[in-house]
Amino acid sequence: MKRFQPSIFAGLAALFSLLAAAGAAVSDRARELHRSSLVFDGHIHAIEREFYHGGDIGQRKPDGQFDLPRARDGGLGAMFFSFYVTEDYYPGRFETKQALRLIDACITQIQANSAAIEIARDASGVERIHAAGKIAAVLDVEGSFDLDGDPAVMRDFYRLGLRSMQLSAHNWQNNYADSCCSGTFRWKGLNDRGRAWIREANRLGMVINVSHASDDAISQAIDASTDPVVATHHGLRQVNDIPRNMPDWLLKKLAAKGGVIGFQIGNEFHNRKVFDWVTAHAGKPFWDTKPVGEATGPLTIFDLDRIAAPKFPMGGSAAPEDLKMTVDDWVGVVDRAIGLVGEDHVALGTDFDGGPTLPRGMRDVSDLPLITDAMLRRGYSDERIRKFLGGNLLRVFRQITEKRPTP
Ligand SMILES: [Zn+2]
Repeated sequence: MKRFQPSIFAGLAALFSLLAAAGAAVSDRARELHRSSLVFDGHIHAIEREFYHGGDIGQRKPDGQFDLPRARDGGLGAMFFSFYVTEDYYPGRFETKQALRLIDACITQIQANSAAIEIARDASGVERIHAAGKIAAVLDVEGSFDLDGDPAVMRDFYRLGLRSMQLSAHNWQNNYADSCCSGTFRWKGLNDRGRAWIREANRLGMVINVSHASDDAISQAIDASTDPVVATHHGLRQVNDIPRNMPDWLLKKLAAKGGVIGFQIGNEFHNRKVFDWVTAHAGKPFWDTKPVGEATGPLTIFDLDRIAAPKFPMGGSAAPEDLKMTVDDWVGVVDRAIGLVGEDHVALGTDFDGGPTLPRGMRDVSDLPLITDAMLRRGYSDERIRKFLGGNLLRVFRQITEKRPTP
């Protein structure tokens, strides 16, 4: 009898994945709660695929994790519409130009799909656009638009519609704030330019995204900022001990200032087995960007495009199914954070198309209701689920963008 058990379990597991893949695993109650909530994702790589390879974000695609039709299927109401200036552009100091090209691509794509999506410049804008049945897009830069942190350049990007920016230059060392993962901590957190950068972000009403910054940089940013700060896509170091994740003391400090942590959806962040598998197969941890400096030299920006393009769309790894966490495991990580800082400081920050290896049974953005279903299974109240899905991020976005007249 015993020898038959594994195949029975394998059969049940296969059936479960099939049901999940068909979207059948979500209860009616979860579907209704999800549909009637504002689902506000703090981090989605929305534009790189089209920037490098052409196409339209409004077209349904057979691969990757995000496009507008699938986002609507998943009940997405608002998102940080992230554009990513990769490290490839930094050694030659093309970061500002690349950010301008990407923000142009964002505006062009959003305008071409104006019946489905619109740029939101403040929290009231998010609510108005959502009420009109469209997806609200908050323009957000991943990486740097100016490695020097010049406030004049920040003001220009604000005028173009940018409302969220990263404190560190992704995994690279910029000239005012340390990254988690560049291997050196040149500023031991922030320098005076970094503190001036934060003052200007506060004055304008720009979200300070601390994901990818070093512990010291995050801690000092929380001290220096008059607004709460947001870790848009993150994990817990207590769950997976990597520098890209947040230690408990720092999460408590972020929450005490009113901030929120968005939970990245990938196994790499929350599941040590897959993290180890991915690291072994790549020969380096996912944040290691050391080879970038070697690949670049006196190159044009078009040469750099050819170097960066093959990375996109950035799907997850081919890690074996049996190593992957389930959506319920993932909710368990969120639950740990709620136990630590309460239900008002956690949010969604999936990082779709930014490389996450998705939980077992989740295909793409259209499967977001699986999260609501898992939270109901865990016994969460509707109110708690709504806070996680979007209420908390909207609250902080309002604090940041609506505390003063727009400059
Ligand atoms: Zn990121």
